[in-house]
Amino acid sequence: MNYKNIANDILKILKQIWNNSNNVALHAPCFKGNEKKYLAECIDSTFVSSVGKYVDLFEDMLVDYTGVKRAIAVVNGTCALHLALQLAGVMPGDEVIVPALSFVATANAVKFCGAIPHFADSELSTLGMAPGKLDLYLNDIIKFNRQTGCVIPVNKYSGRPIRAVVPMHTFGHPVDMDPLIELCGKYKITMVEDAAESLGSLYKNKHTGSFGKLGILSFNGNKIITTGGGGAILTNDDILADRAKYLTTTAKRPHSWEYFHDETGFNYRMPNINAALGCAQLEQLPSLLESKRQLAKLYQKKFANIPGVSFFCETDFARSNYWLNVLLLSEETEYLRNDILKTTNTAGYMSRPAWTLLNKLPMFSNCPAMNLDNAEALGKQIINIPSSPLI
Ligand SMILES: *Cc1c(COP(=O)(O)O)cnc(C)c1O
Repeated sequence: MNYKNIANDILKILKQIWNNSNNVALHAPCFKGNEKKYLAECIDSTFVSSVGKYVDLFEDMLVDYTGVKRAIAVVNGTCALHLALQLAGVMPGDEVIVPALSFVATANAVKFCGAIPHFADSELSTLGMAPGKLDLYLNDIIKFNRQTGCVIPVNKYSGRPIRAVVPMHTFGHPVDMDPLIELCGKYKITMVEDAAESLGSLYKNKHTGSFGKLGILSFNGNKIITTGGGGAILTNDDILADRAKYLTTTAKRPHSWEYFHDETGFNYRMPNINAALGCAQLEQLPSLLESKRQLAKLYQKKFANIPGVSFFCETDFARSNYWLNVLLLSEETEYLRNDILKTTNTAGYMSRPAWTLLNKLPMFSNCPAMNLDNAEALGKQIINIPSSPLI
């Protein structure tokens, strides 16, 4: 089989779908609703910053949409994850299991807590954390009480507590959650979900980000909806939610005029002007999702007949938001990856490889890791192709 033409075959399909444009983004935001109206209201009211009605409204809308009990809007997804990990009890010197195949923020947030990322492999069918493989690995590295057989959630090789597991729903595709939840119970490890990429994605009809003790979302400019910059913490636990709100607003004790803070808090609260944008965006999420799923269907059909490349589809337990569409090269064609990236980007169709695996980045290269064969294979085979909602 000769695959030499694969780059041009892919480009031809992109051109068909995007009407021969020569400037197609990987993911452009879409402002077709009440954005201008709400922003103008916000400016007219002078409440553009940390006080105003849109923050509460945005949080209520997130609660309605995701089905979690509480949502706390913050300035970005990274600080949402930082605080969520801290609220989950992650302490300096702990280890936190994160996927090696993720955006750098997942591991950075662990470092912000003074903890150590411990890298886990991916499942080929979901692109997310591989529960079966992780179970075998933890069984091998975790301490057991010799007398009782009870699990002590400590890495017996490093001596450090394994405090949390952070599944990440890669490019919007839900991780297989049931076995991961079981595993967290078995090994007494807390789950915190990095759902930064998966607003609108469901696992067995339940919203991603609502399974862990806490979950987080991102509303960065390239995510499915945007607030400019922004994020949210999701939780079903009122006590954690109240603490999140308190710690994101400088840990100030409520009082009509006194400034009294009784902990080192953060200035992580989302400004009203960003929340105004978020409300307008969230109103359009159902139609954005529909259009993104249509695009994915179109890609699936068009790429079905190109040998050496396949379009990545959701599994039967998942309903994906298809945030970034994924082409997978085969072992025979992966050597043509850079050729494909060059051909498509030069023609104005933005495409990107997967992130460099986190364990390969200099600041994480000494962190513990399990066998990462699947993540390494995916790292060579993934190409993200233009994914903006088709309008
Ligand atoms: C975007 C993203 C984040 C961080 O979100 P920001 O709002 O950009 O800080 C975290 N994790 C993953 C997997 C992401 O894709």
